[in-house]
Amino acid sequence: MTVFPLRFRPSPSGDLLFADEAGSYFKSDHDFLTRYALDRLTDRDQDYLLRNGHAFEEAGDLAYAGFEHRFASRLYSPGELDYVILVPTLRCNLACGYCQVSRVNENTPGFDWDDRTLDAVLRFLGGLTTRKIKIEFQGGEPSLRLDVLTKVREFCLTTFESCEFVVCTNLQEISEDAWQFFQLPDVVVSTSLDGDMLTHERQRTLSCDKTRAFESNLHRALKQLGTDKVSALPTINPHRPPLARSVIETYAFLGMRSIYLRPINFQGFARKKYDAAASAATWNKYHSDFIDDLVEYNWTADYAVEEYYFVHCLRRVLRSGHNGHVDLRSPNIVGYGYVVIDYDGKVYPTDEARMVTRLGQFDLSMGDVFDGIDRSTIETLNSEALNNYHPDCVHCPYQPYCGVDLVDDLSRYGRIDMPKHFTDFCQRHTYIFDKIFSMIYSDDPKVRKSMAIWAGVHQFDRALARWHR
Ligand code: SF4
Repeated sequence: MTVFPLRFRPSPSGDLLFADEAGSYFKSDHDFLTRYALDRLTDRDQDYLLRNGHAFEEAGDLAYAGFEHRFASRLYSPGELDYVILVPTLRCNLACGYCQVSRVNENTPGFDWDDRTLDAVLRFLGGLTTRKIKIEFQGGEPSLRLDVLTKVREFCLTTFESCEFVVCTNLQEISEDAWQFFQLPDVVVSTSLDGDMLTHERQRTLSCDKTRAFESNLHRALKQLGTDKVSALPTINPHRPPLARSVIETYAFLGMRSIYLRPINFQGFARKKYDAAASAATWNKYHSDFIDDLVEYNWTADYAVEEYYFVHCLRRVLRSGHNGHVDLRSPNIVGYGYVVIDYDGKVYPTDEARMVTRLGQFDLSMGDVFDGIDRSTIETLNSEALNNYHPDCVHCPYQPYCGVDLVDDLSRYGRIDMPKHFTDFCQRHTYIFDKIFSMIYSDDPKVRKSMAIWAGVHQFDRALARWHR
């Protein structure tokens, strides 16, 4: 019998979590670790490992094939390009401190698509081989260019069999024409609500009048378009975050059950304005307390609430194939499945790559809509965008669930070869998987209730807390 390589990590309770490269896990103790390391596994050990898919008798047998299938389905494989983020303008009617790298004042000329750019973008879209397309309009404030949004949508409807449009708007000043656009059946709206209205005012609107205008537009959007067509994301300043309960209740009151907590993006001018070294520990503490508060809230709430990224990570632990999130996958091949087209027609693999380039750190552009795509720089990054063989990640039991974010590494450290455990990415994900496993193995009925809801099952099965004693 051959055992697939096992990685392990001590947990606070003194036992050890073991996981193989396909993501199957169990807990055991130091005695088992010694037997495993010294190749002195007992018959009982071998029987456990074989029955649970951690070992095989001979290459090609059922256990081997099952492992290979689980391993392969944890790898991201980019499909055809069917998701395009468009930035028709950098102009914006708000000036959020952490967003200034990607916006200019509302009346500043020279930061919009002109007719030539629009034509080139439509030609680019027309050259795609996909039959379905998702277009996300970002900015700046994209509703300032409703004319462009309308033309892109009309073009897509006549070019693709299935279309979905997302307008990322600050919902600050919305014209009646824009409301009509939002109401179209293939259009959804994504906005920002920084936790609660007080925090939103402090970080974004900066005045009561503007906060009231935003609040009124948000209520109108939810009422007129419906909660399934409106999503909101909070950007959290880890140094001065809103109270967790206040965020949860604000979102729940609005009928929004999924909260995607995001720390202020390190990239862009936010780095100068806010302490860039907002350590992962500060964020992790806030996030952990937030999850604990969600568990408390869900215990008695009529409608449960989730933290989107935590639940995504939980699902990556429990199941393979959850490779849709661009920030958490391996290999994290960029520049194929989706791209960003900036206000000047330049193409980027991700929005973060656009910001890194605009700051002058590295040029991560991949050509433009006029002369075509050039992936030469991006291919160099892609060749390193794999955690399976990374010299640090190969020792980590969380590797199958985790991912790679080389653009983030480049932005923070100017290099992609930092020892992983020094990186913000690794520290945040080590915390989050520690938290998930502490909850998977928890006996607390409140925790088990939330975990069942978040995992999408009626009851959180105790068999998920696997042990080999
Ligand atoms: S980045 Fe860190 S948490 Fe993620 S697999 Fe690598 S070592 Fe583990």
